[in-house]
Amino acid sequence: MSLTTLSLTELRQKLTTKEISAADLVRDVASSIEARNPVLGAYLTWDLDAALKEAESADLTQPLGGLPIAIKDNINVEGQPCTCGSKILAENYTAPYTATAIQNLRQAGAIPFGRLNMDEFAMGSSTENSALGVTRNPAALDRIPGGSSGGSASSVAGSIALAALGSDTGGSIRQPAALCGCVGMKPTYGRVSRFGLIAFASSLDQIGPITRSVADAALLTNHLCGFDPRDSTSLKESVPDFTAVLGRDIKGLRIGLPKEYFIDGLHPDVEASVRKGIAKLEALGAHIEEISLPHTEAGVATYYVLAPAEASANLARFDGVRYGHRSSSASDLMEHYLKSRSEGFGPEVKRRILLGTYVLSSGYYDAYYLQAQKARTLIRDDFTKAFEKVDVIVSPTSPTPAHKLGELTGDPLQAYLEDVFTIPANLAGLPAISVPCGTIAHEGANLPVGLQFITKALDEATLFQAAHAFEVG
Ligand code: GLN
Repeated sequence: MSLTTLSLTELRQKLTTKEISAADLVRDVASSIEARNPVLGAYLTWDLDAALKEAESADLTQPLGGLPIAIKDNINVEGQPCTCGSKILAENYTAPYTATAIQNLRQAGAIPFGRLNMDEFAMGSSTENSALGVTRNPAALDRIPGGSSGGSASSVAGSIALAALGSDTGGSIRQPAALCGCVGMKPTYGRVSRFGLIAFASSLDQIGPITRSVADAALLTNHLCGFDPRDSTSLKESVPDFTAVLGRDIKGLRIGLPKEYFIDGLHPDVEASVRKGIAKLEALGAHIEEISLPHTEAGVATYYVLAPAEASANLARFDGVRYGHRSSSASDLMEHYLKSRSEGFGPEVKRRILLGTYVLSSGYYDAYYLQAQKARTLIRDDFTKAFEKVDVIVSPTSPTPAHKLGELTGDPLQAYLEDVFTIPANLAGLPAISVPCGTIAHEGANLPVGLQFITKALDEATLFQAAHAFEVG
């Protein structure tokens, strides 16, 4: 049996008792990649020799000692490619430094192994915006894995990675986890350093784990979090042991169901699965009540002003001068910028840069950017009020199951609307997790559904407690 179906805790057991070596494990993961990646397309690259070298010196006494973890291709690991799923970085960029999140994992003994496909610069919800290939959903190969961390979810659900890192700006960890049938967790904004994560929208981006169980996610989160002076938004907060709450019951836990999340566009079978999940939480002793997050409707519009605005500024650095694709046919400096960027960026990234530049331009700034900032405050206040009454908010993660590859590529607006349930947690900076909540039979396939849990800022412990109780309950 392949080791790649085991949990991180089970593998740690085998490593510490010397039943297997770290090199055995790396080789096992590599052979599962070789066997299944040609179908799934989850990994873009993997450097077996480098990982074996790290395995040789892995400190097995550490909490993640000897565990290879796959990395979304927007997190820098020195000496490795970091393409962001974009042509602009695919040709000639090698990471010159290592992200703090990766350093933290390494310090805990883990081995970063393999680079995972994603929507270009994390813009998308299907991984179809990658310039570097198609990624498939292991539950139904003709369907999207979600996105933008689609490679992360596909690799983990398809058992060709033990666990992976993703990044979440508007749902990119939780939504692919939901669609592929695994666990995806976005920590509180500021919990995990963004140093070394190539920025999409800096006020929203967070790194987090995609795993096959809540326990694995809690274990990884323990070692991802922590203050980092190199990220000015990093929080100086102590990090509790999130695995300590696993197994605690949820009797009396107050769970709120936001009525604005059970709406017309919600697929009826997804709703039925979610309602079943909620009944399970109630049977476990949680107290369920309806709540209101009245500004939910403004979430998508707010996000699609703010995220492109920040992206347009962040992506200005890709100009073909110091790194990235450089046009070979430019005759002067202006043409150099124009051609390098036009040739290097794909259509969705260009759309976002146009949108972002527009909403920040003089004459439109007040009407769009400033309004969106105000709406963001209202959305954040909704949550603050709700958490006076409840401990956890529960909702569907995505309104629909995974659609077929190519089905929505001509309809960006429809794709944007699919982020309706995940975006608010980013706008409010809150931690949130998606946990598998059954499957639905749909057009001949059994498609996974995800249940989302949200808590107040820095309360990941309650998030893991509730998610774990649900998962094992
Ligand atoms: N789907 C959203 C977008 O396209 C969220 C992406 C993300 O979280 N990186 O922007």
